[in-house]
Amino acid sequence: MTIKKMRAVRAGEVPVDGGTAVQESADRPVFRGNGEYDYVCVSCGSLLAAGMDPQYMTRRVRVRCARCATVNISAELPVQAARRARREA
Ligand SMILES: [Zn+2]
Repeated sequence: MTIKKMRAVRAGEVPVDGGTAVQESADRPVFRGNGEYDYVCVSCGSLLAAGMDPQYMTRRVRVRCARCATVNISAELPVQAARRARREA
């Protein structure tokens, strides 16, 4: 199992879509799957999502850590940059 650290949502980084999953207990990951990676909180290293594949951990997926309340996002691109470019008229 490979550990992937998530990152904090930047100030003003307004989510385009999706929602924030709230972890209710620090010893229970919000998501559990059969994938390759464990995703941990960027601040405290708490396990937030276990056994997930990267294709499921997109910018739509945010997880609020039960231990430190940091809202984590897994996407490496900021939401703004990941947005489709607006076409100039
Ligand atoms: Zn945390």
